[in-house]
Amino acid sequence: MTIEPPPWRATVLTLFPEMFPGPLGISLAGKALASGLWALEARDIRASATDKHRSVDDTPAGGGPGMVLRADVLAAAIDAADVQDRPRLVMSPRGRPLTQARVAELAAGPGPLIVCGRFEGIDQRVIDARGLEEVSIGDYVLSGGEIAAMTLIDACVRLLPGVMGKLASGTDESFSDGLLEYPQYTRPQVFEDRQIPDVLISGDHARVAKWRLAEAEALTAARRPDLWAAHPKAPESGRKRKPPKITTGE
Ligand code: SAH
Repeated sequence: MTIEPPPWRATVLTLFPEMFPGPLGISLAGKALASGLWALEARDIRASATDKHRSVDDTPAGGGPGMVLRADVLAAAIDAADVQDRPRLVMSPRGRPLTQARVAELAAGPGPLIVCGRFEGIDQRVIDARGLEEVSIGDYVLSGGEIAAMTLIDACVRLLPGVMGKLASGTDESFSDGLLEYPQYTRPQVFEDRQIPDVLISGDHARVAKWRLAEAEALTAARRPDLWAAHPKAPESGRKRKPPKITTGE
């Protein structure tokens, strides 16, 4: 008898568990969920409320608009979940922006616990006391962490073993090599007088690979100077400033 390791698992703490699996129950992620390649647990933060009104939020200390999620309720919700050594994340516009590299790390682990904020956010003390890592999905503000959590989970799930048909599709795409992906085409061969580039129907795999790399590099340089500056082929990257010399004062 072989004992299967437990599948990758996302545990989401939310005031709206009914939002899950939502889009994660469809297509690639949904099929993988149904076949047990990963597991999803949406836990209701409100179940950890203790007062008779089951309140989860209160007005901000120091004044200001909106409500803040209470530290005691959220801490109880985290402690009631099976956290163990799993990454503990909280979705937050103040967090470190999510990258494909971080997604790949999270996909390689046991799967995270993810806290979804609502209202004006959550009491800082629970972030500190439970060592939550703040993760942002971009420089804009959503009304809650659920869609951000779904974004993160979706990005992880497609990298899990067995989820994508061809392994290559995970390694060849945008960001995996620090480049945006080359343009894609499929039949029909002519669409509104626009042809598929000749090289792609040449059958010459080496030429195709060369063309794709050149397109990816040109696209990255034009659209994402930030990514391109870090690429070994970028003109500047060879002439990076040397670290300052340490002078001993002698
Ligand atoms: N007042 C807060 C925003 C609260 S938005 C601020 O200015 O920073 C309510 C919740 O939505 C947040 O607690 C967070 O969980 C989620 N959220 C909003 N924008 C997000 C983003 N860009 N990335 C990740 N989570 C986000």
